[in-house]
Amino acid sequence: MKLVKYVLDSSAVIGGFLPEEDEYFTVYEVIGEIEDDASKERLSYFLNSGKIKIKTPKQESINRVRKKATESGDNLSLTDIKLIALSLELDSSIISEDYGIQNVSSMLNIKFKSIRELGIKEIIQWEYYCMGCRKIYSKDKKNCEDCGSIIKRRPMANKYQL
Ligand SMILES: [Zn+2]
Repeated sequence: MKLVKYVLDSSAVIGGFLPEEDEYFTVYEVIGEIEDDASKERLSYFLNSGKIKIKTPKQESINRVRKKATESGDNLSLTDIKLIALSLELDSSIISEDYGIQNVSSMLNIKFKSIRELGIKEIIQWEYYCMGCRKIYSKDKKNCEDCGSIIKRRPMANKYQL
């Protein structure tokens, strides 16, 4: 099966997007746009595990996107422009809830999807497990009730529909 490439914007990350088998990319600036702790932790988890990769688009692509945005009158941030530029370079689809991003993407023949439209409609759920005896907890705890070891967190294997 051929992997599909997707570029994720911050709304996709905040919206609880959970990567599957395909290839996912974002730009460095997205990290700075994420403010809530749950989304921050989710993003850093997927960056650390290599599930989402950070790439920097070329200046040439950035200029091309900026020109289109000026033409269409869409008010895009530098992050938005870089995300679209990266999609151009990777020949990928972009996942975004932002109307301006979607509009400029369509002008550049980039496919876009919102997370709700995507076949992958999942919200990540965390589970907590004991580092010592591996007992699973549904809520965060400091220490295991049974063995006293530290409780860690990981994404649950189960998938939830939006
Ligand atoms: Zn334990």
